[in-house]
Amino acid sequence: MFKPDLSKPPSYSGLLKAIRSGEVKELKLLPRSDQVLVQFKDGRESRVAVFSNDQQIIRTAEAARVPLSVSPTDPEGAGSGLLINLFLGVLLISLLVLLLRRSASVAQKALGFGRSQARLQPEGSINVRFEDVAGIDEAKAELQEVVTFLKEPERFTAVGARIPRGVLLVGPPGTGKTLLARAIAGEADVPFFSISASEFVEMFVGVGASRVRDLFRQAKAKSPCIIFIDEIDAVGRQRGAGIGGGNDEREQTLNQLLTEMDGFEDNSGVILLAATNRSDVLDSALLRPGRFDRQIMVELPDRRGREAILGVHARTRPLGDDVSLGMWARRTPGFSGADLANLINEAAILTARRERLFIDEQSMNDALERVTMGLGAKPLQDSAKKRLIAYHEVGHALLTTLLPAA
Ligand code: ADP
Repeated sequence: MFKPDLSKPPSYSGLLKAIRSGEVKELKLLPRSDQVLVQFKDGRESRVAVFSNDQQIIRTAEAARVPLSVSPTDPEGAGSGLLINLFLGVLLISLLVLLLRRSASVAQKALGFGRSQARLQPEGSINVRFEDVAGIDEAKAELQEVVTFLKEPERFTAVGARIPRGVLLVGPPGTGKTLLARAIAGEADVPFFSISASEFVEMFVGVGASRVRDLFRQAKAKSPCIIFIDEIDAVGRQRGAGIGGGNDEREQTLNQLLTEMDGFEDNSGVILLAATNRSDVLDSALLRPGRFDRQIMVELPDRRGREAILGVHARTRPLGDDVSLGMWARRTPGFSGADLANLINEAAILTARRERLFIDEQSMNDALERVTMGLGAKPLQDSAKKRLIAYHEVGHALLTTLLPAA
C-alpha cells in the first residue's frame, strides 16, 4: 500500500498511485492555479501541482471511481486576490484623496486671491475720539452727523431722511482724514474696515471687482459699520481717460464699487468713507447723489488749528514751561497735522537723547530745523555759488523793504 509522507504533499506520480490504490476520498481540480486539492480517506488534505488541462488525472480518477469536481476559483487564491484588490483599491482612493486635497488647496488660494484685503478693527478696539482730532472743526461738525446716523438711525428714519451712503474726505495728505474716519468709528463704537484703494487692483482683471464684492459682503454682515477707502483716486479715476483707452481692471473695480453702492438698501447701516487729495480726477458717477453724496474738505489747519493740534499731541508728552504752543503755531505756517505731530515727536526724541525730562524750547527749535531742512549741511566752499546765493537773498530783502504792503 502506498504510504505517503505526511510532512510534505505527495508527488504527481505519488498522487496517481494513491488514487489507484483507493486512498483518496475526493479530488477537487483547480484549473486556475493548475492544482488539485486532494482529500485522503484518513482525513488529510493536500495540494498537488498538475499539468494544465491534465487528462491523466481525470482518467485515473474516473477509473478508480474517485469523485472529481472542478472549482473555478481557488478558495485560497481568491482570498489573496481579494486582499490584493482591496489594497489596490485603498491605494487608488488615497491617491485620489491626495490629489483632490491638493487641487482644493490651490482652489482655496485662488479664491483667497479675490478676498478683500481690508483690515477690520472691531468695535471697542478703536481708541480715537473726536477730541483727538483738532484744528478741522468744520469737517468734524459735518461728520458728527454721521456718528448720530450710526448711533440712532431712528431719529432720521422717523422723519423720512435717507442716511448718506458715502462721504468723501478731500484734502492734502496728513491733514487727518484717516484720523477723522477712525474717530467716527470710535465715537459711534462700530467696526471699522480700512483698505487702500490700490489694494483692490491686481494684475488680473476681475480680482478687484471680486474684492470689492467681498468687502461689502463682510461689511453688511457687521452692519452698522464704517468702510474707509484711502486714496480712492487709485480706482475712482475718470473712466476712459488715460493713454491707450482704459485700464480694464481699474474700470471693472470702479464699476463694481458703483454697483455695490447702489445696491445698499437705504439705511443698511454701512457708511462708506473715502479719502483723496484729488477729487478733480474722480469719475463723476462716483460723486452723484446716492453714492458719495457728501464731500467734506479737510484743509490745512490755520494758526489756531495748529495750536490745537499741537495741544493734542503735547497732551501725552511732558512739555517744559518755556515752550509756548501759541508761538509754535505761529512759527509753522503750512504745516499739516501730520507735520506737527512729527515735529513734537522729533523734539521728544531729541529730549530723550539729551537725557532731559521735559521737552524744552531748544529741542523744539532743533526739531523744527530737522523737520524743515533735514540734517545740517557742510559749509559752502565754492565762492561763486556763495556770491550767487547772496545776490538772491539780497533780492528778497530789497523787495520786502521796498514794497509798501509787504
Ligand atoms: P491723511 O489720512 O489725511 O493723510 P492721517 O489721518 O493719516 O492723514 O494723519 C496722520 C497723523 O497725523 C495722524 O495719525 C495724527 O497723529 C496726525 N494728525 C493729522 N491731522 C491731525 C489733526 N487734525 N489733529 C490731530 N492730529 C492730526
